[in-house]
Amino acid sequence: MKGLVWFRRDLRLSDNPALSAACQECREIVPLFVFDEPLLRSHAFGSACVGFMLGCLEELRRSLALHGVSLAWRMGDPVESVLQAADDFKVDAVYWNRDYEPAALERDREVQQRLAQQGRTVRTFKDHVVFEAEEVRGLSGDPFQRYSAYRDRWWTKWRAAAPPLLGIPSFPPAGKASTPDSRKWPSVTDLGYESVPMWIEPGEQAAHARLQWFLRGPVHQYVTGRNLPAIDGTSKLSPHLRFGTVSARTLVHAALNALAKGGAVSRADVFTWVDELVWREFFQQVLAAFPHVAHGPFKAKPGLPEPRPAGPERDRLFAAWSQGLTGYPIVDAGMRQLNQTGWMHNRVRMVVASFLVKDLRVDWQSGERYFMERLVDGDLAANNGNWQWCASTGTDAMQGYRIFNPRIQSEKFDAEGEYLRRYVPELKHVPTKWIHEPHLMPPLEQVQAGCRIGSDYPEPIVDHRQARQEYLDLGKAPVKA
Ligand SMILES: Cc1cc2nc3c(=O)[nH]c(=O)nc-3n(C[C@H](O)[C@H](O)[C@H](O)COP(=O)(O)OP(=O)(O)OC[C@H]3O[C@@H](n4cnc5c(N)ncnc54)[C@H](O)[C@@H]3O)c2cc1C
Repeated sequence: MKGLVWFRRDLRLSDNPALSAACQECREIVPLFVFDEPLLRSHAFGSACVGFMLGCLEELRRSLALHGVSLAWRMGDPVESVLQAADDFKVDAVYWNRDYEPAALERDREVQQRLAQQGRTVRTFKDHVVFEAEEVRGLSGDPFQRYSAYRDRWWTKWRAAAPPLLGIPSFPPAGKASTPDSRKWPSVTDLGYESVPMWIEPGEQAAHARLQWFLRGPVHQYVTGRNLPAIDGTSKLSPHLRFGTVSARTLVHAALNALAKGGAVSRADVFTWVDELVWREFFQQVLAAFPHVAHGPFKAKPGLPEPRPAGPERDRLFAAWSQGLTGYPIVDAGMRQLNQTGWMHNRVRMVVASFLVKDLRVDWQSGERYFMERLVDGDLAANNGNWQWCASTGTDAMQGYRIFNPRIQSEKFDAEGEYLRRYVPELKHVPTKWIHEPHLMPPLEQVQAGCRIGSDYPEPIVDHRQARQEYLDLGKAPVKA
């Protein structure tokens, strides 16, 4: 049998169920990647994300070549491209790992149906998550709507049936006959994006190196370190999980093995980190079970304030937020980190999201889209789930509305202002006493610090206390029929 392996969010050789099955069942395999032209043209993702993906593909291509197999590629509509490739390579079967985004599910259903009509076998596999949505359900069989209940069931499931890891498969000898594709691989600019510096190294090897580095060091202080944006205290594996250069299974096994080996690794730190991976799966299952979240609120909370109407004021506030010019150092540092690097620390993501939705009263969907267009780890399930959580339209179990106070967050998690000064250079010489609220700095000290409020750095765009009260008051207003 000759099999086509369609690589999508699984750009790796090790622990790859679709690739392993194809290598086991086929006499010859053809690996394929399709550049989804309509998706790329829509610019739903940014240059950082596309650049990272190309870096991962470059490495995958090299790794496959070491096994004597050439990675084929197509550019166009994914459905037509896969069907055409199946014809071109005269394959009997097509293999892929499942994707749970609504558009991907629709695409895959169509490909599967049309391949079946042509008499070709289709084999699909669980890969992107440790447990698929249907595997972690409540006693009633309904999907979970609260993270804590989901997490408890997830761990029960893990203890009962932790999925084993697959290594790198043995490639069938006939695969080695596949002809190398002589066309030049598209570059970031060929795809219509800008070439930007890569802050997180792409590829399967880099993912494993980063995991090992994380388990040797930062995981030891993860419970506290994960909240401090000035330090490299988290794994930065999110883009790797996004493009599947390492499997979530591998991460959970590696973390628990590190704990089992003893030494200085603490149970609380390791479990807190794995719980973050469970958050990722929780949002994946929310998207799979409630696909309407991709286009609207998970739940419309009664009395939730309406966002500000479209118009120049909304545009002015959104522009200040997106450019990192709000006069709130923690918000500005976060947005500039995102704009400059394609990544933002999780604690700061929560602060900037809350600020946009609650303080500025701009619709959360605008923030979600802005993140997606810039994040190197932009992922519909995680991004949407977290934006909705911050906007109080999602799965947050808290009654009422959670509103972050930017000053308190900044004082608590970046007390010395190291992160703030790194991304907001205007504040570099501002004394620590004023770093969280530079607009309160006396005029003479502003001159001494080279930071005049209103010219070098903006006045706060809104007064947080007032904006918070307005939001709460609006929230109390009766819902219009
Ligand atoms: C408004 C907002 C938007 C976000 N958008 C995205 C996004 O598009 N893509 C994305 O992967 N994450 C997103 N997150 C979640 C989180 O910020 C990132 O996953 C995390 O910062 C990645 O850094 P890390 O790999 O060092 O995380 P670590 O702390 O090392 O955690 C390990 C892994 O757990 C998962 N994880 C951690 N926190 C969360 C979380 N809150 N929700 C879901 N998964 C989590 C990630 O896969 C992460 O790589 C968003 C969070 C917020 C508040």
